Formats: sequence, structure tokens, C-alpha cells
Amino acid sequence: MAKLQSENSILRIALPIPIYRLFDYLAPTDVDVSQLKPGCRIEVPFGKHLKCGFLVECVQHSDINIAKLKPAKRILDDAPLLSSKDLKLLHWASHYYHHPLGDVISAAFPVALRQGKAAILRTEKRYALTELGQTIDSTQLKRSPKQQSVLEKFQQHPQGLTESQLSAWNDNWKGSVKQLLEKQLLQLTADFIPTVADQVIGEANLLCNPPQQAAIDAVCAGLEHFAVFLLEGVTGSGKTEVYMQIIQEVLARGQQVLVLLPEITLTPQLEDRFKRRFAMPIAISHSKLTDNQRQQAWLSMRQGQASILLGTRSALFTPLKKPGLIILDEEHDSSFKQQEGFRFSARDVAIVRGKLLNIPVLLGSATPSLESLHNVNQQRYQLLHLPERAGSAQAPSLQLLDIRNKRMHEGICESLVNEIHKTLAKKEQVLLFLNRRGFAPTLICHGCGWVARCQRCDANLVIHYDEQTLRCHHCGQEQRLIKQCPACKTGELTALGLGTERIEKVLAELFADKTIVRLDRDSTQRKGTLENFLEQINQGDVDIILGTQMLAKGHHFPNVTLVAILDVDSGLFSIDFHAAEKMAQMIVQVSGRAGRAEKPGRVIMQTRQPEHPLLTTLIRDGYSSFANNALAERQDAALPPYSYQALLRAHAIDAESPLLFLRAVAESARTLDNGHTQILGPVAAPMAKRAGLYRYQLLLQSNKRQDLHKLLDKLLPQIDKLKLAKKVRWSLDVDPVDLY
Ligand code: ADP
Ligand code: ZN
Ligand code: ZN
Repeated sequence: MAKLQSENSILRIALPIPIYRLFDYLAPTDVDVSQLKPGCRIEVPFGKHLKCGFLVECVQHSDINIAKLKPAKRILDDAPLLSSKDLKLLHWASHYYHHPLGDVISAAFPVALRQGKAAILRTEKRYALTELGQTIDSTQLKRSPKQQSVLEKFQQHPQGLTESQLSAWNDNWKGSVKQLLEKQLLQLTADFIPTVADQVIGEANLLCNPPQQAAIDAVCAGLEHFAVFLLEGVTGSGKTEVYMQIIQEVLARGQQVLVLLPEITLTPQLEDRFKRRFAMPIAISHSKLTDNQRQQAWLSMRQGQASILLGTRSALFTPLKKPGLIILDEEHDSSFKQQEGFRFSARDVAIVRGKLLNIPVLLGSATPSLESLHNVNQQRYQLLHLPERAGSAQAPSLQLLDIRNKRMHEGICESLVNEIHKTLAKKEQVLLFLNRRGFAPTLICHGCGWVARCQRCDANLVIHYDEQTLRCHHCGQEQRLIKQCPACKTGELTALGLGTERIEKVLAELFADKTIVRLDRDSTQRKGTLENFLEQINQGDVDIILGTQMLAKGHHFPNVTLVAILDVDSGLFSIDFHAAEKMAQMIVQVSGRAGRAEKPGRVIMQTRQPEHPLLTTLIRDGYSSFANNALAERQDAALPPYSYQALLRAHAIDAESPLLFLRAVAESARTLDNGHTQILGPVAAPMAKRAGLYRYQLLLQSNKRQDLHKLLDKLLPQIDKLKLAKKVRWSLDVDPVDLY
């Protein structure tokens, strides 16, 4: 061991690379090491390049000969951008997910900061009315209508408007603002920090019903302390109103709120509602924004310029100057689990963050995850229940439609067609749900049985009729739609099964005079199309809405009174034990789109399994009963949340290496474990080949979380030593949410 005489001038640095160790560097000679704090970004030479790493600690000793240590190039931050509690959180996450620390810390930063750019918050100009401007009658400017409208805009916003707020309102504001400045009706204001009183400007609170009020009171009574609340409220029960009134209380204390949503498409809706309610600055962060926008959002929360952050999973790590509350809406949604790289659960990490920051965490859902309900049963979370729809809206009625031996129009049963006609005749809207895009999932030869398969995956090619292509939904490979069977050259090719494109065609024939929109990933690829469709729907220009997954989440369609789920059976037979839970959540979520306003809604589900217990329990007794049954089944089978899992996945271009590699890992795990962990596999992944790679997996399961993690702590260093590890790509998924 080498020792440097003077002070702690060896820097232990976490680098954003997939290697489970820290790297030692010498401090640059002109740097006062005693001033360096953990978390600072430091640029260091690594191989032939410079990398931006994060200081973990300054030490005296290195296992490496001092003479061989390289000096760090540059200290990028005078003070760390993350607080010591947030650094502690990242250390915890690195340990819990067994993921390299540098990669984990890096995930907490926006891209530009990860790359070592300076952390500068661009400040905007803000304008407000002068005293003259506040009192003047805007019609005095009627000869210059542009100036008049700008003045009126400001009169509606007495707290002033920033450049970006003006641009969002109207591209052509600059000239008029300049003229109004000259006329001394407007002035440039100092950086505006809104006060609580300004919030009154927004839309008023709704008068809450007793369960809503009870939920608000419970959370507000616990502010400034760690606690987890699960707000279980049927769709339309007014969860958002509850969030907003609690947020208001947090803002009134001068604190900030982090709100996480599963989907980008849901942020604009919530942003609108929040903006109408709160005059406080709201920051937005999700993957469709530019790197710069995300960095601005990150910095504005860190420096306290913004009070609310609305974001998706990755926004969880945003630093907060004055943290007050974390809300996770739709907490059951599997999008909160990152499925690659640093495979963290934003829900679980949010709870640890809440604990470290000593603030409450509020989880909300109409269909809470079994894990969260289990935590309620264990009295770790406090349940807040909104059993009924708010206002006058009624819960939709659910009904199964047995389609065995019934006359079908492609995928739509005759009696459903009639129901659709009746609904449309009342000038109400219909929503059809089918979770499969494309025209049909299979192209088969009627002569010889040949099926169009992806050459790189263990999967069929999906027919996309509009584009005349065959496409693999797993690797993206694409080819022209063929007319002749390549195997027998004579047989007729037939499309088997249903996709949204196909249903759209049937609907166009059955309801020729009606307007139909299809919402799926293909039809909404271009930026802005989804928003356009949603607007058309809300304006009542659309009669039938057809879509996938995309429809199940959050959107409001007040005039929809009939929802039909075209195929519930496909979710009933899966080898993944999570499937039943996801299926039930999907049914309830889709149902929640019906009859949100004054008119009662109905939900019809087409099935060939009308006696299936999952469906009957859900319909007869509701989601809570279904969840209780499902939890009891999981307990009997000792599955999560009654046990703890970690999944090792491996893939390679040959079929043998991943299998041999995982066999060696399993072997190693068996010798290291003292009988507390089940080592299941290795087996081929449910999709054994994907994008040309052969895939295997090994499942580790324990009844105690600690046992599993103790084993992983010992196992991971062994895996790195395996020769076969170099021949495969492998990953570890702690608490996997799907076993694919
Ligand atoms: P959720 O988030 O639970 O699906 P929302 O908060 O979106 O429900 O509320 C559904 C609808 O009910 C909204 O239009 C909302 O304005 C309305 N609403 C919520 N709370 C009340 C209330 N206390 N009184 C009347 N209407 C309400
Ligand atoms: Zn053929
Ligand atoms: Zn493929």
C-alpha cells in the first residue's frame, strides 16, 4: 500500500462506466484538497479520453502505486451540485441495485452536466405593468390592436410574465412589448419570487367531498415528516384535486414539490391544471424535452426558482432546495421501473428519498400495485381511500360479452356493433381498446402453413397494411409486404389475428358516416399529432376512438359513454406471474375513461373465457377484492411481495455462451449461499432470441430481502472473474417487474 505524506490528496472517483469499482487520481497540484467536497464533478483522463467523474472521498492511501496514479485534470464544481442527503440516496441505490456508483450518480444529472458542462441557470427577462399600466383602460390603445392585446394579457397577469411565458402565448410579442416599455406602461422587473398570496390569482379550489378532505387533512397533518400515503381513488374520484390542495399547503410553507408521472403524454394535462391553479413557477422534465430544457428545470429546482417539478421517472433525482413533498401518480405503472442500465424503481427509490429528506411521499392510483397494498397491510403505508367519483359522475358498469360462436365482424361481435350504433345515435362517443398495433400479428400461408417470422427474433412479423410492410415489433426489422408464399410459391397468404389498423378498416365500413380516430404508436408518431387528436376528441369532432395502451392512461374523454375492450383473453394466459395484476389494472384503467361527466358509462369486454375467475372477481367485487385474492395467491406461492427476486439476464450471438455463463453463475451462487436462496434456472428467456441475440436468464429468490442481498454482494465479484463473462452481455435486475 502506498502512502502520500502530506494530506488526503488522493481522489477516489466514481466514473460513469459499467465497472464495479472506484478510481484513484492525484489531486491537481494547485487545488486545496481540504476544500473539496464529495459529489463535485471532476474531469479526469481515462484511457485516451477525458471523462467527467464524481468525487467520492479524498484519502491518503491507494492500493495502486502512487507513481502510477494520474493527476485529475480539472475540478468542475466549487461545491457539489447534489446535497449530502441526495448523495447518500445514490450510494444507497448503487448498493441496493448492485449497480456501479458512477453510473448511478451520473443518472441523477441532466446530460450536459454529466458531460461536464457548467451549471448555469439562464435567467429570463420578466416584464410587469407599471402603475400607469395597471390603471389605464386598454381600449385607449385600440388603434394598435397588438399593443392592446399585450396590455390586456398583462392586466390578466398582474404578477408579470417572463419571455418564455410570452412566447408560449404569442410568437409576436417583442415589438409590442418594446412599444409598451417606451410608453411606460410596462417595466422590466427584478427576478420575481411569487408569494403565497399570488396563488389566489389562480383558479379557486373545489369544495371537497368528505373522503377528499380526510385525505388532504391526513397528509397535511404529517407534513415535515417522513410517511408514505397510498391514495387509492377510483378514476374520476378527484385525486388530482387532493394533490393540488396538499401542494398548496406545501407551497405556503415555502417548500417545493416533486410530482412524478409514468408517461410523457400525461404531463401537458396536469401542467395545464397546475398552471391554472398555481401562480408559482412550474418546471417540467421528461425525455421529449431538449437537454437544455431539462437542465434548466433541474437547476431551477436546485436553486429554488421553481416550486413544482412535474416529470417522469428520471426526474426523481432532481435536487430540491427546499423539499416538502414527493407525489407519484399512477404508482402501479410499470414505467416507473427503468428496464435497462440502472434498473431502479422510481417508486421504491422515491420512498427512500422521502425517508432521507424526512418528507412525506404520496402514492396515488385507482389500481394500486400489489406491493403497495401489501405495504398498507403491513402498516408501512397509510391508506387514504376515495371510494366514489367526485361531483355527480357515476361509476361505469362492467359487463362481459361472451363471443363464443357469435357472429363477428372481423374482431367485433354483432351485438357490440348494435350497442355502438345506439350510443352514437345519442350523440355520445365510443372508445374501443385493443392492445395490438398494426393490421394483424401473423401472416400465414393458407396452402402450406408457412408463417412470416423475424429472422433475428423468436417472433412473428406484424403486418402493417397501410405502409405495405412486415415489421418486427421487437427489433424493428422491416421488409416489404409479400404477395406470394416464399415456401410453396402457390398458396394464398392470409392475415391472422387482429391489430388496430384492421379494426379501423372494419369500423370505417360498418360506420361509414362516422369520424373515427386511431391512437397508437404508429398513428401518433409525428410530434403534435396526439395532441391534435385529443383536441378533436374533446371538441366532439370524433365519434369513435380506437386505440392501444395509450388510451388506458389518464386521459379524460367526458363524452365517452361506451368503452369496449375487444380482447381481454390475451392477457389471461401468461407465464409471467405479474400478468394477472397488469391485466386487471388495464381493464379498470380503460373502464375509467367511460362516463366521466354527467352521463353514466358502460364497459363491455369481449371474451371467450366468461367464467375466468380473474374476470368474474374483478367485475363482481371490484379491484380491491381482486387484489386481495391475487395477494393471497402470491402468498401461497411465496412470490413477491412475499419474497424477493433478482433476475440475471445474459445474451450473446451464439446460443451456448449465455447458457454456460449462467450455469457457472448458478454454480457459484450455490456454493456461496447457505440455503436461504432459491436458484432457479438458467432457462431460455420467454423470447429466446431477440435482435439476433440468444437470451437466457437465472432467477434468484429469497424469503428475506437481506439474504438475497448478502448473496448478491458475494456473487457479483465472482461473476466478474468468470472467463465466460467476457463472451456475453449480462445484467442484473433487482425486483424485476417483468420476467421477460
Ligand atoms: P382522478 O385524478 O381521481 O381521476 P380528477 O381529479 O381528475 O380525478 O377529478 C375528476 C373530475 O372531478 C374533474 O373534472 C374534477 O374537476 C372533478 N372534481 C374533483 N373533485 C371534485 C369535487 N370535490 N367536487 C366536484 N367536482 C370535483
Ligand atoms: Zn405456402
Ligand atoms: Zn425481430
